[in-house]
Amino acid sequence: MSQDKDWSQRQLQIFKAIADNAGAVIGAKDLDGKYLYVNQQYSRLFRRPLSDFIGHTDAELFPAEIAAKFRRADLMAQRASQAFSVEEVVPVDGLEKDFLSIKFPIAAEDGTLFATGLVAADISKIKDLQRQLQTMADHDVLTSCYNRRKVLEIAAIHLKKAKRYQQEFSVLVFDLDHFKQVNDTFGHAVGDCVLIGFVERVNAELRKPDELGRLGGEEFIAILPDTSAEAATALAERIRSKIASWFPAAVQGQVQTCSIGIAGYSLSLQSLDEVVAAADHAMYQAKANGRNCVRSY
Ligand code: GH3
Ligand code: MG
Ligand code: MG
Repeated sequence: MSQDKDWSQRQLQIFKAIADNAGAVIGAKDLDGKYLYVNQQYSRLFRRPLSDFIGHTDAELFPAEIAAKFRRADLMAQRASQAFSVEEVVPVDGLEKDFLSIKFPIAAEDGTLFATGLVAADISKIKDLQRQLQTMADHDVLTSCYNRRKVLEIAAIHLKKAKRYQQEFSVLVFDLDHFKQVNDTFGHAVGDCVLIGFVERVNAELRKPDELGRLGGEEFIAILPDTSAEAATALAERIRSKIASWFPAAVQGQVQTCSIGIAGYSLSLQSLDEVVAAADHAMYQAKANGRNCVRSY
């Protein structure tokens, strides 16, 4: 009997040592949500002593919204037949932290459910890195607008929506005029500044749902969801005139103009490739027409 007691005492010590050194946040709650157990990392994370947790619920410890979120997950764990994992955002010290949490039901020997358990790892650093990589993968390094792949991906989504809801959809293709001369006269770094300034100015004219991307070199595309040909033309003209009256300081008072082509989704232009090619074609017509002007397909 006393040997059994010693043994279960030992098992408890082993369990506690494992839990406190596992590098994870570990806890268990009864079916009413009262804490039965938390490990040291759990109490350290929320800067509260272990005694604050035991016998108390999340509703007593955390803001209502977070407590309700935790409770929902616990109820899910009560209904689950096995462990499952969820990614959760948890505010810690005023910062949003990402956790990968494994939740599971805990049953007595006769199968009666009496608690739920949680093992969670802080994956904030991995998630931050993932978000940084995603941003780098989607954006043009120089101008920070979307890159070609991403803007065309977004355009395809908008075009699909336009078809489904029978909305209009237009695109503008921009190409800076005589841009090679800027590089040749003032150097590549100055050319870079002009590209950055151009994107800032176009962005300032776009509405919230519009998206801007760099197709390559000094060629850009604006995606205009739910926009008629007339509205797209008015916008293009506004941008053209704004760019033409901009005197980039870097090029010492010289103007930088651009040529703009417009095309929209229609019976004859069904696919994204067709719409973009048509806008590109219209842009070349604007070039042929003497540049610094807008042409529709
Ligand atoms: P057009 O009016 O016919 O468009 O003439 P253009 O000189 O603008 O056209 P062209 O295609 O001959 O030259 C485009 C130039 O854009 C050449 C290239 O070096 C420059 N360019 C492309 N990407 C960048 C960039 O990231 N930075 C800088 N500074 N220049 C770039
Ligand atoms: Mg050009
Ligand atoms: Mg070009």
